[in-house]
Amino acid sequence: MCAIVGVYGAKNAAKIAYYALFAMQHRGQESTGISTADGDRIHLIKKRGLVTEVFDEPSFELLRGNCAIGHNRYSTAGADSVLDAQPVFARYKLGEISVAHNGNLVNKYEVRNRLIDNGAIFQTGMDTENIVHLIAKSQKDALVDRIKDMLTKIEGAYCLAIQSRSKMFVIRDRFGIRPLSLGRLKDGGWIIASETCAFDLVGAEFIRDVRPGEMLIFEEGQEPQSEQIFEPDFHPCAFEYIYFARPDSIIDGKNVYQARLQMGRMLAKESPAEVDLVLPVPDSGVAAARGYAEGLGVPFEMGIVRNHYVGRTFIEPTQEIRDLKVKLKLSPIRHLIEGKCIAIIDDSLVRGTTSKQIVKMLLEAGAKEVHMRIAAPEIKYPCRYGIDTPTMEELISSSHSVEEIAQMIGATSLGFLSVEGLVEALGSERTYSLVSFDGNYFAGGNANSFGCADDC
Ligand code: 5GP
Ligand code: MG
Repeated sequence: MCAIVGVYGAKNAAKIAYYALFAMQHRGQESTGISTADGDRIHLIKKRGLVTEVFDEPSFELLRGNCAIGHNRYSTAGADSVLDAQPVFARYKLGEISVAHNGNLVNKYEVRNRLIDNGAIFQTGMDTENIVHLIAKSQKDALVDRIKDMLTKIEGAYCLAIQSRSKMFVIRDRFGIRPLSLGRLKDGGWIIASETCAFDLVGAEFIRDVRPGEMLIFEEGQEPQSEQIFEPDFHPCAFEYIYFARPDSIIDGKNVYQARLQMGRMLAKESPAEVDLVLPVPDSGVAAARGYAEGLGVPFEMGIVRNHYVGRTFIEPTQEIRDLKVKLKLSPIRHLIEGKCIAIIDDSLVRGTTSKQIVKMLLEAGAKEVHMRIAAPEIKYPCRYGIDTPTMEELISSSHSVEEIAQMIGATSLGFLSVEGLVEALGSERTYSLVSFDGNYFAGGNANSFGCADDC
């Protein structure tokens, strides 16, 4: 998973992109980058690290121009090269180009192998490089036609911001799997961003979501032009609402916090528990836990405190002191918990590691019973569309029943939201991407194809 931003027609485009990326830091912490175009040249800074670590005042002297695109990359195991940071910049026949991508292309190896057979060389494992190659190799004359040509050759989930020396192109795949919105800047100019929380920080007015299959073209002195490239087949990702997005964002007309509240209420209907108290796993379980407590009519307490200073630089504890890891981050308020029957709510269960440690922590703090409730269905299949879920073997729900998992994590009981319940909570007027739960790989790929560790 990643974040992208694009700013066009603004004097301080790089600064605006910087703040937008800062607001979207939750979507990726491994590396970040901004490229700007000043009409003559593209300038680029990208590095491993957080937005506040990578850019400083001198960065903005270099990042000149009124068009900026930017990217936050999600931290994934193994990929630790600065080369894997985005945007990806290249020089080709028509000049300079820079590309930022959020998503995952399911046919990336086929495309790459074909390109390599034809003599192309690659610097990274990222599918974003495929995009640059496909544009560079297209036989069309104009950049816009080369981009359209490239789009016929890629499959999967993508939101793209593409920059030349004077224009910006923004594209959302025809399924609209990843979110992307358009806003207007107060002092003139336009912004696109993966999440609307970026608009709130830079004071932009939300205009609308980019439509599935739509391309927006930004040119000097013109309103953005819209072109519907593909017939839409809308399948927005349910996991954005469950876990990924920030609660203050509005994705395709739905506020993420409200959606989570509703999932919690639905969970209370489907999987109630006789408890004294409802606690969230902070921070990701808070909204759902509020909804769950409200649904049951049971008090809600922030009974687990989260230490926000556990950063990326934290040294992984050794195997023997593994418990320390969760204790560094989360700590129970013993006097709230002692002697009580507790329902503890998390947004999702992936490998089961977090739940196991939290149940243990609550029991050690004196809880009489610990009923774990998950405000999402069982994750049985790896997502191939940009959520970095692990392989089938690592997904505990793909090989174990609810009862077995309850035992493994040591909970008194365990309950998940049903797929139907999730859809009802989100609003059944849409067909969501539920691939992690139902294994319907509607946009290509399958459970056994490569993961997305390089790209999302
Ligand atoms: P588990 O411990 O079962 O492997 O993971 C469940 C926890 O991971 C939940 O607390 C959930 O909030 C969090 N989670 C779910 N999806 C993701 C993700 O894509 N990235 C990260 N870092 N955490 C996730
Ligand atoms: Mg969590």
